[in-house]
Amino acid sequence: MTSTTLVWFRQDLRLRDNPALAHAAASGSVIPVYIVDDTHAQQWQPGSASNWWLHQSLCALNESLNGNLLFFKGDPLQIIPDIISQTQIEQVVWNRCYEPWQIRRDKTLKAQLQNVGIQCQSFNGNLLWEPWQLTKQDGSPYKVFTPFYKKCLQHQTPRFPVPKSESIQYYHHTLSSLPLAELALMPSINWYQAFTKHWRPGEEGAGFILSQFLNNNIADYANNRNIPSVNGTSCLSAHLHFGELSPHQVWYAAEQITAADVEQCEPFRRQLVWREFSYYLLYHFPSFPEKNFNARFDHFPWSKDDNLLIAWQQGKTGIPIIDAGMRELWQTGYMHNRVRMIVASFLVKNLLQDWREGAAWFWDCLLDADLANNSASWQWVAGSGADAAPYFRIFNPVLQGKKFDPDGEYVKRFCPELGSLPSKYIHNPWEASADFLQQHHILLDQTYPSPIVDLKQSRQRALDAFHQIKQ
Ligand SMILES: Cc1cc2nc3c(=O)[nH]c(=O)nc-3n(C[C@H](O)[C@H](O)[C@H](O)COP(=O)(O)OP(=O)(O)OC[C@H]3O[C@@H](n4cnc5c(N)ncnc54)[C@H](O)[C@@H]3O)c2cc1C
Repeated sequence: MTSTTLVWFRQDLRLRDNPALAHAAASGSVIPVYIVDDTHAQQWQPGSASNWWLHQSLCALNESLNGNLLFFKGDPLQIIPDIISQTQIEQVVWNRCYEPWQIRRDKTLKAQLQNVGIQCQSFNGNLLWEPWQLTKQDGSPYKVFTPFYKKCLQHQTPRFPVPKSESIQYYHHTLSSLPLAELALMPSINWYQAFTKHWRPGEEGAGFILSQFLNNNIADYANNRNIPSVNGTSCLSAHLHFGELSPHQVWYAAEQITAADVEQCEPFRRQLVWREFSYYLLYHFPSFPEKNFNARFDHFPWSKDDNLLIAWQQGKTGIPIIDAGMRELWQTGYMHNRVRMIVASFLVKNLLQDWREGAAWFWDCLLDADLANNSASWQWVAGSGADAAPYFRIFNPVLQGKKFDPDGEYVKRFCPELGSLPSKYIHNPWEASADFLQQHHILLDQTYPSPIVDLKQSRQRALDAFHQIKQ
């Protein structure tokens, strides 16, 4: 017997390894739907950069579905029943999302639909292990990465990717879809032009980036992943966030290309498990994005200062590695992981700004902005998170720069006004004499700012502040 199924696409904008779509296509005819939920997400509506990506990705998905994707904007709890009332739909399916607001909404919808006799089924599409599958022996959730990682590896191996549905039969209907442009996802200010140079949203682009990485970079991933001037990481984060490919596809493709050579495969796969850990924490501790995981930090004496925050956001702090990172973010919608850690530590520790201010800026500017990864990473750097970096470990941005960008190649790419400085001063121009700087076309506070804080004093101030909440 065949049936008609509404496939609700969310963070699974792909045809391959899409269990909900595969189930629907095998059951009969399909109505594929995407809804911009402007009701339940509240403050977790995607930021401007994410919306740019989403627009492009939906365009690509609609093409893959031969123009059959229906677009809506509003409350899914009203829109889906409304679609059902106009069609012969018997089933609604989706791949699971894990943001607390999505879980709440999905549970309500499931109950609502089941009450009126519509079958409703959710599938695993976005995580290698479901967060409820993994607990400590006493049944409580893990809070530390290493035992979590070990548990993952001991647990059953992730499911294999499901084959792409070769032919999808679309249900004939008279429903009217909004044109994609009317979802109003494209940002109103046009700072995003350069994004198209760097990124190709959509399933095809994701597959291309994955194969480039596997063929050229995975073997040296462990050596290169911390060097921001080198193309050493996969750049898959936004593709994974929007579900243009699944972690299962990436997990098994990495295994295949390295012929399961654990030493080659492990450092990269470990990062995929960090992603799992972030989602795991968000699932078990849903207040993670808003509240300090470690409640001691509720009494931390942040020193709110909008001028410092703006200087950081605009990449005008006078500390080259920080400014390069913040400008990379603005120009490309991405920032290298090592630099994310350095700029986050600088904001929270040297500038004493609340980690939530930094997370909010990242949320708006990152193409890969992801509630689980962003909140877990910010809390990790701030020291308030689960298994966090100890607060007293404060990155020195000059030393970090010298270690991971010794010739200043990365800094010069995003701070071209420092382009002729020799390596000795590229991370600390304020330590060179005015004459020396002038010979290299730099006038502090005119062509490039002086540091907005003294690194040594601000470090001590951060340690003192931490001392206040220590006992
Ligand atoms: C302050 C801060 C904020 C961050 N915000 C986000 C965010 O909003 N969205 C996001 O996807 N990542 C975030 N990260 C994690 C990490 O920086 C990015 O996932 C990574 O830089 C993406 O580049 P890549 O795809 O080349 O990573 P690769 O090194 O190739 O890693 C492969 C994949 O593993 C996952 N991953 C890698 N590192 C981490 C990590 N530390 N935590 C969780 N997952 C990880 C990502 O999905 C990534 O695509 C943040 C890190 C910091 C320090």
